[in-house]
Amino acid sequence: ATPMAVMVSTGLGAANGILFKNASALEDATKLDVIVFDKTGTLTVGQPEVVEIVTADSVTEDVVLAAAAAVEQGSAHPLAQAIVRRASKLTIAAPTGFESLDGMGARAETAEGTVYLGNRLLMDTQKLALGSLTAAATRLQGDGRTVVHVALAGRVIGLIAIADAIRPTAKAAVSKLRAQKIQVVMLTGDNAATAKRIATDIGIDTVLADVLPAQKAAKVKELQATGKKVGMVGDGVNDAPALTQANVGFAIGAGTDVAMDSADVVLMKSDPYDIVGAIELSRATLRKMH
Ligand code: ADP
Ligand code: MG
Repeated sequence: ATPMAVMVSTGLGAANGILFKNASALEDATKLDVIVFDKTGTLTVGQPEVVEIVTADSVTEDVVLAAAAAVEQGSAHPLAQAIVRRASKLTIAAPTGFESLDGMGARAETAEGTVYLGNRLLMDTQKLALGSLTAAATRLQGDGRTVVHVALAGRVIGLIAIADAIRPTAKAAVSKLRAQKIQVVMLTGDNAATAKRIATDIGIDTVLADVLPAQKAAKVKELQATGKKVGMVGDGVNDAPALTQANVGFAIGAGTDVAMDSADVVLMKSDPYDIVGAIELSRATLRKMH
């Protein structure tokens, strides 16, 4: 093994926005059988926007938005920021007792009652029925929207549909990886219907959805237990343990510091196609070394 080849490749990678933090990653990247992509912020841009609000009978959109924004003021989640931004023209009361419900949503107390908001799992856990909103929720998820269910004082009062654009090179990256006989998997905390639709648009057929933050690393471990070498690509605090667990962890440069600290490789341009470049670079390096 020539340290020179490693140095040259590391430099070449860096010049192209692909930062290898250690030489072993450069070698391990040649052996990957599977690449696991986080969805939000990795395959998508991570700048979600509210695109539709559906209300229950005799409830206005503003009531739904105001209740949701009251809770989301206290949350750092990207979905929360989208909701707060959309509610910027409304007067939002300061809630009490804010609590983040990891991987599901959040809750808080307002003058009108307790607000629960988040995914379907949270509604089910709280025994909050969707009633007449069921069909709308199914439609929105089928369209690839993330649905934030909003419940006030024991009743689901509306749905906030949120869209996050797919990164322009995501599809090409997936098709190139598959051409190289590398399996591609999507791993997300979002629900199966939404995740499946986005995966289909990108060309990914294996989807692990509804995965709680604490379970992401375990999913990587399960793949490794089948004898596969796993690369993980992620951006969030959520993804950090999975990035560490993977044989090679790749962090999106626009992501969180925690993700970048946990990764072996940082993709400075936040471009999923740079995964292909990183693997090609590592293969070329290994050829020079033997
Ligand atoms: P992801 O893997 O997509 O980054 P998370 O693990 O952070 O997702 O959350 C999983 C799901 O829980 C989200 O898709 C969303 O439906 C719901 N959720 C979590 N936090 C919030 C929040 N603050 N507001 C609304 N929904 C939330
Ligand atoms: Mg993410």
